[in-house]
Amino acid sequence: MAVNVVESKEWYLAGYAAEGVPTTDHLTLRSVPLSLSLDSIPDAHVAVQLLFISVDPYLRTRMSGQEDGLYFPQFSLNQVITAFGVGRVMRSKDEKYSEGDIVLNAFFPVAEYCVVPSSVLIRKIDPEAGIPLPEYLSCLGVPGFAAWVGIEVLGEAKPGSNAFISAAAGGVGMVAGQLAKLKGCRVIGSTGSDAKVRLIKEEFGYDDAFNYNKEVDFDATLSKYFPNGIDIYLENVGSKMLEAVLNHVNPHARIPVCGMISQYNQIWTEREGVRNLLNIVGKEVRMEGFLVGSYLDRFADFTVEMEGYLKQGKISSKIKIYEGIQSFAESLGSLFSSSNFGKVVIEVNKPR
Ligand code: NAP
Repeated sequence: MAVNVVESKEWYLAGYAAEGVPTTDHLTLRSVPLSLSLDSIPDAHVAVQLLFISVDPYLRTRMSGQEDGLYFPQFSLNQVITAFGVGRVMRSKDEKYSEGDIVLNAFFPVAEYCVVPSSVLIRKIDPEAGIPLPEYLSCLGVPGFAAWVGIEVLGEAKPGSNAFISAAAGGVGMVAGQLAKLKGCRVIGSTGSDAKVRLIKEEFGYDDAFNYNKEVDFDATLSKYFPNGIDIYLENVGSKMLEAVLNHVNPHARIPVCGMISQYNQIWTEREGVRNLLNIVGKEVRMEGFLVGSYLDRFADFTVEMEGYLKQGKISSKIKIYEGIQSFAESLGSLFSSSNFGKVVIEVNKPR
């Protein structure tokens, strides 16, 4: 018999975290009854069982209570956290969607079940494509798209370019390194553990890599790894790494600024400065911040290219899966340490 009411656990924001990593002091799990009966679902809405939720660094910047840095709107207090996710349609009041459809949404509630307007669904996933569902949040999702915009669109990667990627074993970095290799670049990565250094060299084809936690002088480190200078730096971390990079850029280098994760847990007056920005002038460097949301007109091109790479085995990914919705606060906190490999995802409910 069809279930008509479920108890759905969901995460909401109980308090802003201006500094530090948000914890269960700021994020709270509650259980709410949700009616799934067709009568209770408004027209042009669908009831969805969440399968996978993407855990991304930008979510943290929506919990600070201050609009700065990434300038994403803040979650309201008591509001359910929303995130990119994959779900299965359980009931539909829109003829375009049927029970069993697998759908993507950039703003699913971080919950076990939900009822959402069908207009927010990005698309259906074709199960016949043979691509594992978490991959739609990884190589084919926000991190993969950010890597593609950074390396191909803004980085203008070409054969022989010297490319440097920070947070190189993460969701963005692992794809960015492989894309830069496919474009013929020499690619070096920095990451936070020896195991990750091995991973990106052995599995993602980086030419070389270093553990930034073991380096005392980033300037000397980059002299060693880039004797011919840096043409592309995909910036993911900010601070001292950016400062060191600016001492090694070649004329007309490109620095697509994807993020600066080392600065997300500080209020702006506590963030670290970069002393040698002047080098951008003399080396005529193009340093450009970007948000993937501004490149949605290119998302279809990206998807075709990335699906091709995945099917041909030219790009692979590592996905760290946390089990169950209760793991959201812990998995978000993990982004600010070096504990995880690859893309962080929560498996909310097992896909059938
Ligand atoms: P992620 O790799 O899945 O997780 C973050 C990683 O960053 C951690 O695993 C850790 O790896 C590293 N990290 C954490 N704190 C650090 C610190 N203080 N210094 C240096 N590294 C640190 O994250 P992601 O999804 O790939 O995101 C990477 C960057 O891209 C972030 O800045 C994010 O905000 C940005 N991003 C931007 C867009 C956009 O539209 N512009 C879209 C997606 C992501 P290590 O082991 O290497 O320390």
